[in-house]
Amino acid sequence: MKYCCYCSAELISAIPDDDNRHRYICPGCDEIHYQNPKIVAGCIPVWEDQILLCKRAIDPRLGYWTLPAGFMELEETTVEAGIRETLEEANARVDVDDLFAVFSLPQVGQVYMMFRARLVDLDFSAGVESLEVKLFKEEDIPWDELAFTTIRATLQCYFEDRRQGKFSLHTGDVIKKENGYDFTATLV
Ligand SMILES: [Zn+2]
Repeated sequence: MKYCCYCSAELISAIPDDDNRHRYICPGCDEIHYQNPKIVAGCIPVWEDQILLCKRAIDPRLGYWTLPAGFMELEETTVEAGIRETLEEANARVDVDDLFAVFSLPQVGQVYMMFRARLVDLDFSAGVESLEVKLFKEEDIPWDELAFTTIRATLQCYFEDRRQGKFSLHTGDVIKKENGYDFTATLV
């Protein structure tokens, strides 16, 4: 962030009087431009014993498989965001069952919220952000070609819960390390 979106003045970084963190402050109009984490909402679209995955057509992780998920828009709920992302990336319609996973990624300023969802029908296809969309049984999940640690963790938790015959809410943190990402799950 370099310029003020209200008055176009060049921003400075400083700690405001009643604060304890550096913020981008506009010397022109005094606006403080707070930066906060973004919500990524998505679905685990299920059809019988299969899960719908999307092969990414965009960076980052182009060519890798993911669950449909993306940044929330203003004026929508988290469930609406998950449904919309599933429609955009996989042209798939879902009925959402429940919130399944909440993961924090503090170093990249994101919070993932993944919902369990049932595909309404098999009328799906690749959206503009996907090269291919496909249903996978657990044994066919391309574990080595998954796009993100959050997606791997979501799928691992999902299949583990399915084996136990009971789905619960999972929370965890994805922490960036020197050679990749570390996932710490907290079961609740
Ligand atoms: Zn300004």
